[in-house]
Amino acid sequence: MSYSEYNLKIKKIANSIKNNTKLITTNRKGHNYRDLKFKKNQTRIETGILTNVLELNEKYIDCESAVTIGKVNRSTIPRERMIPALPEGDNFTVGGCLAGLGLGSSSYIYGFFNDNVIDFDIILGNGELIKDVSETSHSDLFYGIAGTYGTMGIITRVKIKLIPCKKFVKVNYHHYNSFENFYEEFSKMIKNKNDDFIEAFANKKNSYTIVSANFIKNVDQNKVAVIKDKDIMKQRNMTIYAQISNKKESCYLRLLDYLERYSYAAFWGHYLYTPYKKRDYLYAGLMYSLMPQEILDSSPGHGRYNISKYFHAANHIVGDYYRDEYVLATDIGVPLSKLKEAMDLADEMTDTYPRWICPIYDHFNPKKIFCTRRPELCDDDIIFDLGIYGIKNTSKSSKEINQAFEKFSFEQGMFKGFFSTCYFTYDDFWNQFDKSKYDSLRTKYHAKNNFMNIFDKINYRSKTKKDNLRSKLFKFFGKRYLKHINNNKESLIQ
Ligand SMILES: Cc1cc2nc3c(=O)[nH]c(=O)nc-3n(C[C@H](O)[C@H](O)[C@H](O)COP(=O)(O)OP(=O)(O)OC[C@H]3O[C@@H](n4cnc5c(N)ncnc54)[C@H](O)[C@@H]3O)c2cc1C
Repeated sequence: MSYSEYNLKIKKIANSIKNNTKLITTNRKGHNYRDLKFKKNQTRIETGILTNVLELNEKYIDCESAVTIGKVNRSTIPRERMIPALPEGDNFTVGGCLAGLGLGSSSYIYGFFNDNVIDFDIILGNGELIKDVSETSHSDLFYGIAGTYGTMGIITRVKIKLIPCKKFVKVNYHHYNSFENFYEEFSKMIKNKNDDFIEAFANKKNSYTIVSANFIKNVDQNKVAVIKDKDIMKQRNMTIYAQISNKKESCYLRLLDYLERYSYAAFWGHYLYTPYKKRDYLYAGLMYSLMPQEILDSSPGHGRYNISKYFHAANHIVGDYYRDEYVLATDIGVPLSKLKEAMDLADEMTDTYPRWICPIYDHFNPKKIFCTRRPELCDDDIIFDLGIYGIKNTSKSSKEINQAFEKFSFEQGMFKGFFSTCYFTYDDFWNQFDKSKYDSLRTKYHAKNNFMNIFDKINYRSKTKKDNLRSKLFKFFGKRYLKHINNNKESLIQ
């Protein structure tokens, strides 16, 4: 694919925007838990045509904005190169990771996805094209774009740094049975930076596992666990979470499988969606039957019921405000020193386990608006993404829970993931983030009046919980299925 073809495509998009009078948005559902009905009344830009890798060398990969992380991995790993700070979803796009959020188990060294972007192109709300936005050219937009969730312009190209890697990793599981022991060791490992990748799980109140992974050059191929070639029933016993539950000490994986370890299982989500006893086929069958067919088939090249399926499933099952009352999927930003407080709050509000604890190095820059901490409230340059994905075990409402998490993270100078269901109040939100900086950037780059405002876009906006046919069916079958899984957690992972 050549740059000249890319230039033709973006010219077409720019021209269509020049003649546009309505608000503009992308034509993606993407990965988030909000009501996307607003898209129907806006001009939708088909970013799905931008799926080509434009250039690849030892130092960087230059991609059209809808290139997926899976495609990036498949292009770079054979050359023993990878993007630093890779998010775990193989079907996330480079444009979405820059405009939204992107982080993963190497973020404790390399920061967020946006910290590793070299430059990008963007079409503004008046149809003007700005090329090569970088640290030195339009630097306010370069730093300001992260976390604006499509409210600044249409990103069409993203160039990202590459770092050396190997094609295999050894994954080590370190198990702990008290928070104190786990936290002491985890803090040390984060500080020492000896591992290529690091993340942790709170399996239940007094059961923690640190998962570290390191590149290895040579490995006996017979020892490598190949996950994606298995069907869904076999995959579930080979996932990282199953390995943790079975108290495994280590395993070998292809780097590609490691990087996409949650794509085929959306963390431990597969336990929510795949049956484990014969009677569950009925429930699971109904759950699947509620999902549009194209979702289950939507992974070109990888086949049905395999990679990506769980992310789509997770998105659909949780992505309805009614279901939010039963299944939670939220990420809270937590400073390194406040993890215990965050865990206690999560116990009180949802008592949901397991939890994902992913450390990130926060490269604070005053020009950033959303994807960073407030240094006057948070001294720690290591922050955690505390991911709480699973069945809610308290009778508190989704709103009450989310607002408690939002308040907590704001008080710590952090933020909650905007892709989860958000219940921010206007005052709290703009007390946390710099409204004048955001507004002036939107005015300067013609986003104001052309793209929705971020607060309106990400915030919960339905007056009532949905109660359509899908919700009714979920209430009847899904609720019981989830309860059933929850009651049998211990026997699930075998
Ligand atoms: C089940 C689930 C699991 C997740 N797990 C992780 C994880 O492990 N690590 C992690 O980092 N994140 C995770 N996320 C969050 C996810 O990475 C972010 O929401 C990311 O932004 C999604 O990328 P996407 O390409 O799907 O973007 P989309 O969801 O399509 O877009 C994200 C935002 O960016 C905007 N956008 C997209 N493309 C463009 C463009 N070309 N120009 C301008 N704006 C654009 C959209 O309007 C949207 O507001 C998870 C989300 C879900 C739902």
